[in-house]
Amino acid sequence: MAATAWDAIIVGAGPAGSALACRLRPWRRVLLLERTALPAAGAVSFAQRLAAAEAAALPAAAAVPGAPAAAPVAHAVPGTAAAPRIGESLPGAARVLLQRCGAFERFLAAGHAERGATVAQWDGETPVWFDQLRDPNGAGWHLDRVRFDADLRASAAEAGAVLVDDCGPLRVRRDGGRWLVADEASGEIHQAPVLADATGRTAAIARQLGLKRRVEDALICLHVHLAALPGDEDHCTRVCADSNGWWYSVRVPGSRRVLAFHLDAADPELRRLKSLPALLAKARRHGLLAEVLPAAADASVHARPAGSAVLDDAGLAAAAGFFAIGDAGLSFDPIASQGLFHALASAESAANAIEHGAEGAIAARAAFLAEMDAVHAHYRRRFHDTYAAPLRFGQSPFWARRRRPPAAADHAG
Ligand SMILES: Cc1cc2nc3c(=O)[nH]c(=O)nc-3n(C[C@H](O)[C@H](O)[C@H](O)COP(=O)(O)OP(=O)(O)OC[C@H]3O[C@@H](n4cnc5c(N)ncnc54)[C@H](O)[C@@H]3O)c2cc1C
Repeated sequence: MAATAWDAIIVGAGPAGSALACRLRPWRRVLLLERTALPAAGAVSFAQRLAAAEAAALPAAAAVPGAPAAAPVAHAVPGTAAAPRIGESLPGAARVLLQRCGAFERFLAAGHAERGATVAQWDGETPVWFDQLRDPNGAGWHLDRVRFDADLRASAAEAGAVLVDDCGPLRVRRDGGRWLVADEASGEIHQAPVLADATGRTAAIARQLGLKRRVEDALICLHVHLAALPGDEDHCTRVCADSNGWWYSVRVPGSRRVLAFHLDAADPELRRLKSLPALLAKARRHGLLAEVLPAAADASVHARPAGSAVLDDAGLAAAAGFFAIGDAGLSFDPIASQGLFHALASAESAANAIEHGAEGAIAARAAFLAEMDAVHAHYRRRFHDTYAAPLRFGQSPFWARRRRPPAAADHAG
């Protein structure tokens, strides 16, 4: 089968991938590949996509001999991904990034809750309040995460990016200055000078290219969505340090409250805390949590990797035309509340580099990599300061380990 030509192929239609598609699309032919089946989006066949591609061409499209020019295909607003997401927050500074994606009006219309204050028992047992009153960007939002992702995808599709959901395993290789991406299930082959890995923490494409992902911290997040107690209208984020980890709780859309505990993957208590009664009993030892949690409930506790991880620089520099954005390039500890902002910001930076085109590509890509390095270095300094603060747990392995420089590991987190 002949390869279909694109200007950029983006793998992963989470916030990073969709934001990059939104930013590139006005000038580029963009393919966005997503492994999850999204209701309605999957109804468009490859033949239909090709027919639409042939029916319209973009002014800036770089023609590749023998391959049809690609163009937008209308998709219905994609639905939801199945995995439960923890309630996440987005700082007010993300507004400008969403505006650049042309996604801000849709975002506002979604009615995400305004972010309330944070009350933390972190440095000591006395609760300390933080709010964003003086933040010129505004308080930010607590997201309905499923809606947020679906809306960004819809903006990308509306801008004209071609979204292919339910894709099969992808085989990627470099061939004559272009990236070739083969979908093993459908047999479709795509090619482009630019390839972006936006697959989140799996960094599936980067790892297929042999790039090393260094897990800096094997943190696990146990989380559960509970029915909010009657009268629970508290929209503060509650954070508590504990001897072997830290807690997070906040109201999320749909009269629910999320409870999360972050601990070491090797902690012997991990297994026991996957049972909701054990998790609730441990959480309720903290007054700050006990007042908003039920004594008992019926819900599933989910576990997900949540520690920091970063792609190896040296390998990245050598992979011309390749960009790792969002969690695929750099994953943050949830205490930083930075992952979604980084997803949007790294997409913006990658788009700026890609827009430099062939002449400026090498320097622009080097600038992108240098910026990601600087973000990582700044994050690491903040990380150590944050984890050094709860002095009362100074001897506990969980806290002591995070004060030391991270140990290298070559597996995905
Ligand atoms: C416990 C926890 C709490 C968090 N809290 C916050 C918070 O409060 N604020 C915040 O800003 N961030 C938070 N984060 C981080 C935030 O969730 C991530 O940073 C964000 O989801 C990254 O977006 P992304 O687009 O890079 O990746 P993802 O959201 O993971 O999207 C990746 C996409 O790629 C697709 N995909 C994966 N592999 C393939 C493949 N092989 N082929 C095709 N498609 C593929 C996936 O299906 C998915 O759609 C938290 C994270 C955790 C774990």
